[in-house]
Amino acid sequence: MAKQPRILAGQTAAITGAARGIGKATAQALLRQGMRVAIGDVDLAAAQQTASELGPSAIALPLDVTERASFASFLDRAEEQLAPIDVLVNNAGIMPIGRFVDEDDLTARRMIDINLHGVILGMKLALERMLPRNRGHIVNISSQAGKFGAPGGATYSATKHAVVGLSEAVRGELRLMKADVQLSYVMPFVVNTELGGGLGEARGMKVLQPTEVAEAIVEALQSGRVEVWVPRSAKRTSTLGLLLPRALSEGLARALKADRVLAGADASARRDYELRAAESEPALAGGQERPQLTDGGS
Ligand code: NAD
Repeated sequence: MAKQPRILAGQTAAITGAARGIGKATAQALLRQGMRVAIGDVDLAAAQQTASELGPSAIALPLDVTERASFASFLDRAEEQLAPIDVLVNNAGIMPIGRFVDEDDLTARRMIDINLHGVILGMKLALERMLPRNRGHIVNISSQAGKFGAPGGATYSATKHAVVGLSEAVRGELRLMKADVQLSYVMPFVVNTELGGGLGEARGMKVLQPTEVAEAIVEALQSGRVEVWVPRSAKRTSTLGLLLPRALSEGLARALKADRVLAGADASARRDYELRAAESEPALAGGQERPQLTDGGS
Protein backbone atom coordinates (compact mmCIF):
# COMPACT_ATOMS: atom_id res chain seq x y z
CA MET A 1 0.00 0.00 0.00
CA ALA A 2 1.34 3.45 -0.94
CA LYS A 3 2.49 5.51 2.03
CA GLN A 4 0.39 8.53 2.96
CA PRO A 5 2.18 11.80 2.06
CA ARG A 6 3.55 13.57 5.13
CA ILE A 7 1.58 16.64 6.11
CA LEU A 8 3.71 19.77 5.95
CA ALA A 9 1.16 22.28 7.31
CA GLY A 10 2.32 23.88 10.55
CA GLN A 11 6.00 22.96 9.99
CA THR A 12 8.87 25.45 9.85
CA ALA A 13 11.52 25.62 7.13
CA ALA A 14 14.76 27.56 6.77
CA ILE A 15 15.94 28.07 3.19
CA THR A 16 19.38 29.41 2.29
CA GLY A 17 19.78 31.71 -0.71
CA ALA A 18 16.01 32.18 -0.93
CA ALA A 19 15.95 35.86 -1.91
CA ARG A 20 15.48 34.86 -5.56
CA GLY A 21 15.47 31.94 -8.00
CA ILE A 22 14.85 28.36 -6.87
CA GLY A 23 15.01 29.30 -3.18
CA LYS A 24 12.29 31.92 -3.54
CA ALA A 25 10.05 29.54 -5.53
CA THR A 26 10.60 26.89 -2.85
CA ALA A 27 9.66 29.36 -0.10
CA GLN A 28 6.48 30.15 -1.99
CA ALA A 29 5.63 26.45 -2.48
CA LEU A 30 6.23 25.63 1.20
CA LEU A 31 4.10 28.58 2.31
CA ARG A 32 1.33 27.24 0.07
CA GLN A 33 1.55 23.98 2.03
CA GLY A 34 0.87 25.94 5.23
CA MET A 35 4.48 26.09 6.44
CA ARG A 36 6.37 29.03 8.00
CA VAL A 37 9.56 29.96 6.19
CA ALA A 38 12.79 31.75 7.13
CA ILE A 39 14.52 33.19 4.08
CA GLY A 40 18.27 33.56 4.59
CA ASP A 41 20.45 35.34 2.05
CA VAL A 42 23.71 37.24 1.76
CA ASP A 43 21.64 39.83 -0.17
CA LEU A 44 19.50 40.97 2.77
CA ALA A 45 17.66 43.72 0.85
CA ALA A 46 16.47 41.20 -1.77
CA ALA A 47 15.52 38.71 0.99
CA GLN A 48 13.44 41.39 2.75
CA GLN A 49 11.72 42.30 -0.51
CA THR A 50 10.93 38.60 -1.14
CA ALA A 51 9.59 38.06 2.40
CA SER A 52 7.33 41.09 2.10
CA GLU A 53 5.97 39.75 -1.22
CA LEU A 54 5.36 36.30 0.25
CA GLY A 55 3.37 37.46 3.29
CA PRO A 56 3.38 37.25 7.09
CA SER A 57 4.46 33.57 7.38
CA ALA A 58 7.81 34.43 5.75
CA ILE A 59 10.68 36.26 7.47
CA ALA A 60 13.97 37.50 6.01
CA LEU A 61 17.25 37.10 7.88
CA PRO A 62 20.87 37.87 7.03
CA LEU A 63 22.97 34.83 6.18
CA ASP A 64 26.39 34.06 4.82
CA VAL A 65 26.55 30.27 4.50
CA THR A 66 30.35 30.35 4.57
CA GLU A 67 30.48 31.66 8.17
CA ARG A 68 29.55 29.33 11.05
CA ALA A 69 28.49 32.23 13.34
CA SER A 70 26.25 33.71 10.65
CA PHE A 71 24.64 30.33 9.84
CA ALA A 72 24.09 29.49 13.53
CA SER A 73 22.54 32.90 14.16
CA PHE A 74 20.26 32.45 11.09
CA LEU A 75 18.90 29.17 12.50
CA ASP A 76 18.67 30.56 16.08
CA ARG A 77 16.76 33.64 14.97
CA ALA A 78 14.47 31.56 12.72
CA GLU A 79 13.67 29.29 15.69
CA GLU A 80 13.08 32.29 18.02
CA GLN A 81 10.84 34.13 15.55
CA LEU A 82 9.01 31.13 14.06
CA ALA A 83 9.41 27.70 15.73
CA PRO A 84 11.93 24.83 15.88
CA ILE A 85 13.16 24.07 12.36
CA ASP A 86 11.60 20.96 10.78
CA VAL A 87 13.19 21.48 7.36
CA LEU A 88 16.46 23.00 6.17
CA VAL A 89 16.91 23.54 2.43
CA ASN A 90 20.60 24.10 1.61
CA ASN A 91 20.02 25.99 -1.62
CA ALA A 92 22.51 28.90 -1.73
CA GLY A 93 25.01 28.41 -4.53
CA ILE A 94 26.96 30.18 -7.26
CA MET A 95 28.00 29.11 -10.75
CA PRO A 96 30.77 31.19 -12.31
CA ILE A 97 31.43 29.70 -15.74
CA GLY A 98 34.61 29.49 -17.75
CA ARG A 99 37.40 27.20 -18.84
CA PHE A 100 39.09 25.43 -15.90
CA VAL A 101 42.53 26.55 -17.15
CA ASP A 102 41.39 30.20 -16.95
CA GLU A 103 39.77 29.97 -13.49
CA ASP A 104 41.48 32.00 -10.75
CA ASP A 105 41.98 30.51 -7.30
CA LEU A 106 39.60 32.87 -5.48
CA THR A 107 36.72 31.90 -7.76
CA ALA A 108 37.37 28.21 -7.11
CA ARG A 109 37.63 28.82 -3.36
CA ARG A 110 34.43 30.86 -3.29
CA MET A 111 32.51 28.08 -5.10
CA ILE A 112 33.83 25.42 -2.73
CA ASP A 113 33.09 27.60 0.32
CA ILE A 114 29.51 28.40 -0.73
CA ASN A 115 28.38 25.32 -2.71
CA LEU A 116 30.06 22.68 -0.55
CA HIS A 117 31.27 23.99 2.79
CA GLY A 118 28.03 25.99 3.18
CA VAL A 119 26.10 22.73 2.83
CA ILE A 120 28.42 20.92 5.26
CA LEU A 121 27.97 23.71 7.83
CA GLY A 122 24.20 23.83 7.32
CA MET A 123 23.88 20.07 7.79
CA LYS A 124 25.96 20.08 10.99
CA LEU A 125 24.05 23.00 12.48
CA ALA A 126 20.66 21.57 11.50
CA LEU A 127 21.53 18.11 12.83
CA GLU A 128 22.57 19.63 16.20
CA ARG A 129 18.98 20.80 16.44
CA MET A 130 17.16 17.91 14.74
CA LEU A 131 18.89 14.90 16.33
CA PRO A 132 17.84 15.63 19.95
CA ARG A 133 14.23 15.98 18.69
CA ASN A 134 14.66 12.89 16.47
CA ARG A 135 12.83 14.51 13.58
CA GLY A 136 13.52 16.80 10.64
CA HIS A 137 14.35 16.79 6.95
CA ILE A 138 17.40 18.28 5.24
CA VAL A 139 17.24 18.97 1.49
CA ASN A 140 20.50 19.69 -0.32
CA ILE A 141 20.37 21.31 -3.74
CA SER A 142 22.91 19.64 -6.01
CA SER A 143 22.50 19.67 -9.82
CA GLN A 144 22.71 17.34 -12.80
CA ALA A 145 26.29 18.63 -12.82
CA GLY A 146 26.50 16.53 -9.63
CA LYS A 147 26.30 13.37 -11.76
CA PHE A 148 27.85 14.54 -15.04
CA GLY A 149 31.15 16.44 -15.36
CA ALA A 150 30.06 19.57 -17.21
CA PRO A 151 32.76 21.18 -19.42
CA GLY A 152 32.89 24.93 -18.69
CA GLY A 153 31.91 24.29 -15.07
CA ALA A 154 34.60 21.96 -13.73
CA THR A 155 34.85 23.29 -10.17
CA TYR A 156 31.07 23.78 -10.06
CA SER A 157 30.61 20.10 -11.09
CA ALA A 158 33.13 19.09 -8.43
CA THR A 159 31.15 20.91 -5.71
CA LYS A 160 27.84 19.40 -6.88
CA HIS A 161 29.31 15.85 -7.07
CA ALA A 162 30.60 16.45 -3.54
CA VAL A 163 27.11 17.39 -2.33
CA VAL A 164 25.79 14.06 -3.69
CA GLY A 165 28.55 12.06 -1.94
CA LEU A 166 28.16 14.04 1.28
CA SER A 167 24.40 13.50 1.32
CA GLU A 168 24.70 9.74 0.69
CA ALA A 169 27.34 9.32 3.42
CA VAL A 170 25.49 11.36 6.06
CA ARG A 171 22.28 9.53 5.21
CA GLY A 172 24.13 6.27 5.89
CA GLU A 173 25.35 7.61 9.25
CA LEU A 174 21.83 8.67 10.21
CA ARG A 175 20.60 5.16 9.36
CA LEU A 176 23.36 3.61 11.52
CA MET A 177 22.35 5.97 14.35
CA LYS A 178 18.69 4.93 13.84
CA ALA A 179 17.88 8.65 13.69
CA ASP A 180 14.53 9.62 12.26
CA VAL A 181 15.96 12.55 10.28
CA GLN A 182 15.41 12.49 6.50
CA LEU A 183 17.86 13.61 3.86
CA SER A 184 17.19 14.36 0.19
CA TYR A 185 19.31 15.80 -2.60
CA VAL A 186 17.95 17.51 -5.66
CA MET A 187 19.47 17.43 -9.15
CA PRO A 188 17.82 19.88 -11.52
CA PHE A 189 18.72 20.45 -15.17
CA VAL A 190 19.06 24.12 -16.26
CA VAL A 191 16.54 26.36 -14.47
CA ASN A 192 15.35 29.78 -15.62
CA THR A 193 17.07 31.91 -12.93
CA GLU A 194 19.90 34.46 -13.01
CA LEU A 195 22.38 31.64 -12.27
CA GLY A 196 20.99 29.61 -15.18
CA GLY A 197 20.83 32.52 -17.67
CA GLY A 198 22.65 32.60 -21.04
CA LEU A 199 23.49 28.87 -21.04
CA GLY A 200 23.60 26.62 -24.11
CA GLU A 201 20.76 24.24 -24.95
CA ALA A 202 20.84 20.44 -24.92
CA ARG A 203 18.68 18.54 -27.44
CA GLY A 204 15.47 17.17 -25.96
CA MET A 205 15.92 18.96 -22.60
CA LYS A 206 13.82 22.02 -21.90
CA VAL A 207 14.83 24.75 -19.49
CA LEU A 208 12.89 24.31 -16.22
CA GLN A 209 10.99 26.94 -14.28
CA PRO A 210 11.97 27.42 -10.59
CA THR A 211 8.42 26.34 -9.64
CA GLU A 212 9.09 22.88 -11.13
CA VAL A 213 12.07 22.41 -8.81
CA ALA A 214 10.04 23.78 -5.88
CA GLU A 215 7.24 21.26 -6.56
CA ALA A 216 9.79 18.42 -6.67
CA ILE A 217 11.08 19.57 -3.25
CA VAL A 218 7.55 19.59 -1.82
CA GLU A 219 7.04 16.06 -3.17
CA ALA A 220 10.35 14.93 -1.61
CA LEU A 221 9.34 16.34 1.78
CA GLN A 222 5.97 14.61 1.55
CA SER A 223 7.28 11.25 0.33
CA GLY A 224 10.78 11.10 1.83
CA ARG A 225 12.28 10.66 -1.68
CA VAL A 226 16.08 10.69 -1.41
CA GLU A 227 17.34 11.25 -4.98
CA VAL A 228 15.29 13.96 -6.64
CA TRP A 229 15.85 14.31 -10.41
CA VAL A 230 14.21 17.30 -12.09
CA PRO A 231 12.84 16.45 -14.57
CA ARG A 232 12.25 12.86 -13.37
CA SER A 233 13.10 11.51 -16.87
CA ALA A 234 16.73 12.68 -16.45
CA LYS A 235 17.36 9.66 -14.23
CA ARG A 236 16.81 7.34 -17.24
CA THR A 237 19.33 9.28 -19.38
CA SER A 238 21.87 9.21 -16.56
CA THR A 239 21.38 5.46 -15.98
CA LEU A 240 21.76 4.79 -19.71
CA GLY A 241 24.98 6.83 -19.71
CA LEU A 242 26.35 4.64 -16.90
CA LEU A 243 25.43 1.38 -18.66
CA LEU A 244 26.89 2.28 -22.06
CA PRO A 245 30.58 1.90 -22.87
CA ARG A 246 32.38 5.27 -22.32
CA ALA A 247 32.85 6.02 -26.06
CA LEU A 248 29.10 5.58 -26.64
CA SER A 249 27.98 7.56 -23.58
CA GLU A 250 30.34 10.43 -24.45
CA GLY A 251 29.10 10.27 -28.06
CA LEU A 252 25.51 10.43 -26.80
CA ALA A 253 26.33 13.47 -24.61
CA ARG A 254 27.91 15.19 -27.63
CA ALA A 255 24.95 14.30 -29.86
CA LEU A 256 22.57 15.80 -27.30
CA LYS A 257 24.94 18.80 -26.93
CA ALA A 258 24.96 18.17 -23.18
CA ASP A 259 28.70 18.95 -23.19
CA ARG A 260 27.95 22.47 -24.55
CA VAL A 261 25.38 23.62 -21.98
CA LEU A 262 27.98 25.43 -19.83
CA ALA A 263 30.86 25.48 -22.34
CA GLY A 264 28.62 27.19 -24.91
CA ALA A 265 27.31 29.89 -22.53
CA ASP A 266 26.93 33.47 -23.72
CA ALA A 267 29.43 35.42 -21.60
CA SER A 268 27.85 38.82 -22.29
CA ALA A 269 24.37 37.62 -21.25
CA ARG A 270 25.88 36.36 -17.98
CA ARG A 271 27.94 39.46 -17.15
CA ASP A 272 25.65 40.87 -14.42
CA TYR A 273 25.20 37.46 -12.82
CA GLU A 274 28.94 36.73 -12.85
CA LEU A 275 29.66 40.07 -11.15
CA ARG A 276 27.03 39.39 -8.46
CA ALA A 277 28.35 35.84 -7.90
CA ALA A 278 31.86 37.26 -7.42
CA GLU A 279 30.57 39.19 -4.39
CA SER A 280 28.80 36.28 -2.71
CA GLU A 281 31.37 35.62 0.00
CA PRO A 282 31.99 38.94 1.80
CA ALA A 283 35.08 37.61 3.62
CA LEU A 284 36.82 37.07 0.26
CA ALA A 285 35.88 40.49 -1.16
CA GLY A 286 38.66 42.73 -2.43
CA GLY A 287 41.05 39.89 -3.32
CA GLN A 288 43.04 39.80 -6.54
CA GLU A 289 40.97 38.02 -9.15
CA ARG A 290 39.64 38.21 -12.65
CA PRO A 291 35.85 37.93 -12.83
CA GLN A 292 34.92 34.81 -14.82
CA LEU A 293 33.74 36.61 -17.92
CA THR A 294 35.79 34.65 -20.42
CA ASP A 295 34.12 32.59 -23.10
CA GLY A 296 33.19 29.16 -21.67
CA GLY A 297 35.50 27.36 -24.07
CA SER A 298 33.43 27.25 -27.22
P1 NAD B 1 20.24 32.39 -7.90
O1 NAD B 1 21.52 33.08 -8.18
O2 NAD B 1 18.99 32.84 -8.58
O3 NAD B 1 19.94 32.40 -6.31
C1 NAD B 1 20.94 32.00 -5.39
C2 NAD B 1 20.82 32.83 -4.13
O4 NAD B 1 21.87 32.41 -3.23
C3 NAD B 1 21.00 34.33 -4.34
O5 NAD B 1 19.91 35.07 -3.80
C4 NAD B 1 22.31 34.66 -3.62
O6 NAD B 1 22.33 35.97 -3.06
C5 NAD B 1 22.34 33.57 -2.56
N1 NAD B 1 23.70 33.36 -2.03
C6 NAD B 1 24.87 33.34 -2.72
N2 NAD B 1 25.90 33.23 -1.88
C7 NAD B 1 25.40 33.16 -0.63
C8 NAD B 1 25.98 33.06 0.65
N3 NAD B 1 27.32 33.07 0.83
N4 NAD B 1 25.16 32.97 1.74
C9 NAD B 1 23.81 33.05 1.57
N5 NAD B 1 23.21 33.20 0.38
C10 NAD B 1 23.99 33.25 -0.71
O7 NAD B 1 20.50 30.83 -8.20
P2 NAD B 1 19.47 29.61 -8.41
O8 NAD B 1 19.50 29.26 -9.84
O9 NAD B 1 18.19 29.87 -7.73
O10 NAD B 1 20.29 28.45 -7.66
C11 NAD B 1 19.92 27.91 -6.42
C12 NAD B 1 20.63 26.56 -6.26
O11 NAD B 1 20.22 25.68 -7.31
C13 NAD B 1 22.16 26.66 -6.36
O12 NAD B 1 22.73 25.78 -5.41
C14 NAD B 1 22.44 26.17 -7.77
O13 NAD B 1 23.74 25.62 -7.89
C15 NAD B 1 21.36 25.11 -7.92
N6 NAD B 1 21.02 24.79 -9.32
C16 NAD B 1 20.65 25.78 -10.18
C17 NAD B 1 20.37 25.45 -11.50
C18 NAD B 1 20.01 26.51 -12.52
O14 NAD B 1 20.11 26.25 -13.72
N7 NAD B 1 19.55 27.68 -12.11
C19 NAD B 1 20.44 24.11 -11.93
C20 NAD B 1 20.80 23.13 -11.01
C21 NAD B 1 21.09 23.47 -9.70
